[in-house]
Amino acid sequence: MSDNNWVTRQPKLKGESMIWFHGKISREEAEQLLKPWKTGQYLVRDSTHFPGDYTLSVSVSGKVEHYHVIYKDRKLTIDEEGFFDDLAKLVEHYEDDADGLVSNLITPVPKKGYAFKENNVQFHLQNEGWAINRNEIIVGKVLGSGQFGEVKEGEYKSKKVALKAMNESQRNLDPFLAEASIMTQLRHRNLVQLIGVALGNPVYIVLEFMAKGNLLDYLRSRGRAVVTKKQQLDFSKNIAAGMSYLESKKFVHRDLAARNILISEDDTAKVSDFGLAKDDTVMMDSGKIPVKWTAPEAVRKNIYSAKSDVWSFGVLLWELYSFGRVPYPRVPADNVIAYIEEGCRMQSPEDCPEHIYKIMQQCWSFQPENRPTFHRISTQLDSLTPFF
Ligand code: ADP
Repeated sequence: MSDNNWVTRQPKLKGESMIWFHGKISREEAEQLLKPWKTGQYLVRDSTHFPGDYTLSVSVSGKVEHYHVIYKDRKLTIDEEGFFDDLAKLVEHYEDDADGLVSNLITPVPKKGYAFKENNVQFHLQNEGWAINRNEIIVGKVLGSGQFGEVKEGEYKSKKVALKAMNESQRNLDPFLAEASIMTQLRHRNLVQLIGVALGNPVYIVLEFMAKGNLLDYLRSRGRAVVTKKQQLDFSKNIAAGMSYLESKKFVHRDLAARNILISEDDTAKVSDFGLAKDDTVMMDSGKIPVKWTAPEAVRKNIYSAKSDVWSFGVLLWELYSFGRVPYPRVPADNVIAYIEEGCRMQSPEDCPEHIYKIMQQCWSFQPENRPTFHRISTQLDSLTPFF
């Protein structure tokens, strides 16, 4: 290490404000934080042995690998082949491609107290243009209730918006802001768009307003008599397109279901709650895993991937074509996995086109690698018309 490295820290500052940058923590602490060591969980920390350098710690199915990130000639590198201007760029690269690492980077482990260091969050959000002045928000009536608190209607810059609120007094703000942080990286017409975040109390995540609410209520309240074949197919295409984008960005949704699809004023379906940095352990502990939507390898082995999202998409299609029925109507949730492992699958909903049921069946291949990609599903759906 030359002294030079110490005076030229500028290029690294950007990365150091990121949610996954933990600073001076030891190898042991990193391994603790990465538990339960799911594939693709990662964090970056200061290198213990090489002051001025960094370490990228990545977990892969039950173990952790630590990579030395060398700071050389004002660039950062792991393999001395790819060189990056700052940590953010390095992480972005390995999110897209494992490129020699044990896994690509999938889920950042947020630093402790990240959300409470307001300056830090502000730095990141303002830096990227996402911070909103809360005085410019007009808060309206309650639209629904979410995992963290109420969702309200609102107005921002003369436009209707949805406001997801979370009280700062609640213990864990981290996952709430982690969601917003992930959402800053996504933009697609079939994903509910983040408009910004207003810090303070309560913290508001400001979202594009989806006038017709969630797909499940939409289907149940209108039913067979109102929802047309064309609408069903359009919704399927919309959702597959949104998921195909998410797949290309290497984000895993983990909770794809009709209740998490929102419908806009002009009847476009958009995926919401995506990429949520949900703590799967918490979901398991509180028994909240949505087993009827979750792929067997995710339920049994906690392995989530684009392919487990594809499984859930099959269940979502089934909900859509059965106008919002609860999946596996005659099977109690506790028995669903055994039912699937025996090779049983749901039957086609009444009047469901054969092509659509075929897609559901492909999504429900037991082996993840036998399921189609969202890209393929999206192309397939786009080639269909409501009159086939
Ligand atoms: P969580 O993921 O925290 O459980 P949701 O995002 O599912 O919360 O929101 C709960 C409910 O609030 C939704 O079912 C929907 O009715 C309403 N809602 C959420 N986001 C919006 C939005 N952008 N526009 C309109 N309504 C929304």
